[in-house]
Amino acid sequence: LEHKEEFEHSSLAVDVMRPRRSDPALAGLYCISQALVESTRYSGFPVVVSQESQRLVGFVLRRDLLISIENALQRQEGVVSASRVVFTEHTPSQAPDGPPPLRLRGIMDLSPFTVTDHTPMDITVDIFRKLGLRQCLVTHNGRLLGIITKKDILKHMAQIANRDPDSILFN
Ligand code: ATP
Repeated sequence: LEHKEEFEHSSLAVDVMRPRRSDPALAGLYCISQALVESTRYSGFPVVVSQESQRLVGFVLRRDLLISIENALQRQEGVVSASRVVFTEHTPSQAPDGPPPLRLRGIMDLSPFTVTDHTPMDITVDIFRKLGLRQCLVTHNGRLLGIITKKDILKHMAQIANRDPDSILFN
């Protein structure tokens, strides 16, 4: 995100975040497994207190997750590839005969950057630039709503430029 030009469009964070309005809601994780990490290509995952509350706890990078799971598989007794990875102190209920969970609270970023859904995009872009963010989470009343990556912003800027060049110049 270069500093060349100001972002002078009236869009809000909710207009840029993923998932889009028509897509299923973003479900933050409270637990995950190796297979689930490997089944997506996302660079990171928001972690929430529980599936019901969707209150944000932190953010975990895909890369750190895969390295830590691999390490635990080799070194930690009882950890198998089906082990559930958990991030919160309390253990989510699990099948009685299932493997014990793998606790990886330590690799979580406990204060990921967040904006609310109504934060104007010019402010959000400014934050991305000044703090060199790669992604930022979007919340509404403390509940996780979405995620904005640097690429999402670049795509949004390109879209505005194609659709409506005048409104960028004169807005
Ligand atoms: P790329 O992987 O092509 O570099 P990117 O830099 O936007 O893309 P990704 O993390 O792969 O980073 O995100 C791809 C898309 O998925 C983005 O539009 C982003 O908003 C969305 N996204 C990122 N993480 C998640 C997630 N955990 N759950 C749902 N959507 C996500």
